Amino acid sequence: MKDTIIFPPLEIPETLAAGPGPGNTDARVLQRFCQSGLADHMQADVLRGMIECKIMLRAVWGTRNIHTFGVAGTGFSGLDCMLSAILPGDSVVVFTNGTFSGIDGLSIRMKASTREELRADPLNPQPASVTTIEVPHGQSVSAEVIEAALARHKPKWAFMAHWETGAGRINDLRGFSDACQRHGALGLVDAVSSLGIADFSIDDYPGVVGWASCPQKGVLCLPLTYAPVSFNDRYIAELRENGCHSYVHHPILEARHWGIIDGQDVEKGAYHRTHSGYAVAAFHEALRIILQMGRAERARDYAFHEKVLREAVEAMGCEVTSNMTSLVVLNLPGTLAGREMELVQNCRAKGFGIWPTLSEPVQVRIGILNQLSEPAITEIVTRFAEAMAELGANIDMARVRAVLSAHYDHADA
Ligand SMILES: *Cc1c(COP(=O)(O)O)cnc(C)c1O
Repeated sequence: MKDTIIFPPLEIPETLAAGPGPGNTDARVLQRFCQSGLADHMQADVLRGMIECKIMLRAVWGTRNIHTFGVAGTGFSGLDCMLSAILPGDSVVVFTNGTFSGIDGLSIRMKASTREELRADPLNPQPASVTTIEVPHGQSVSAEVIEAALARHKPKWAFMAHWETGAGRINDLRGFSDACQRHGALGLVDAVSSLGIADFSIDDYPGVVGWASCPQKGVLCLPLTYAPVSFNDRYIAELRENGCHSYVHHPILEARHWGIIDGQDVEKGAYHRTHSGYAVAAFHEALRIILQMGRAERARDYAFHEKVLREAVEAMGCEVTSNMTSLVVLNLPGTLAGREMELVQNCRAKGFGIWPTLSEPVQVRIGILNQLSEPAITEIVTRFAEAMAELGANIDMARVRAVLSAHYDHADA
């Protein structure tokens, strides 16, 4: 064994997470994670915890959908579960307006492809049954665009991201749900970036039959836990009739471990796969935090602090092109144009975790997940101003400070 290399323990530094996600996990969540005892996935408190999570999750989503639970893994795990009902040859209209809806579109094309279509281009198939409506980066998907596409194509399924994190844009959920109902399409929504931040109830959108979110953005439960999903009876009926090509991400089978069997809540979950008591306890605490604070209050706080950050970076000469309340996506002032990556890398090297866009055009993204306080926003603003000044930007700090004090002096928040 003389060739074996054993590395020293992995140290990961504390950083200021000021990007689109992951957000800074609450200390209460981390504490639940490491204070959980060793318990198997069928132990009574673990099973009870999963049932309690399911019940709290229905409140967070604003739904009476029985099939509401968490899919182990990341946002794309929940999305994979939701998209599993799309079968080869199914007709789908996909609306994309940035990185993540673009990846969702790829996932949908992989699922809707026939065997021949998949073989023709296995990593990027182009099935004839899928129509992609590409809305440019920086724009929202509007009710008009949705209506026109669904009226023309009359697909079985329609897909949209609620909040497109790549470009920081909010898409028209009301328009999407209404158009799905008008044209008989089964609506599927990526709510990865909006759940836990926006105040909305999915039962108000009956045209949408399936929803998927993630653990690491508005839910603030990074210790790799659960991607929340919810399916209405229409979706489940479709799945019962036609099945899907997955055991692990089968929405009906996966729900069993959360105590949902034959469309009913039962007292005790049945084995689906090995869940972690640590993850269940952490997820449970994250949901408790959201409900204790209240969805409406969280939404107000995000909107308040995002406005401060937006105005502060505008006072530095940046142009904000986003309208999400957890994130600002901006163009640097003309003198720094083209130096976005350099700026982001400088910040990240100092433990200030901001992000570039992941697809064209290159922009800077600064997020405020779990940074809802005056000191936190002031630190983000100050560090960003310093990084811009280091690259030679001429920043009027008095103007920036005036923005901060205009909002924070005498503020109730
Ligand atoms: C972050 C994000 C995803 C991907 O989530 P992961 O946790 O990285 O798998 C998908 N869709 C949207 C809209 C996102 O913001």
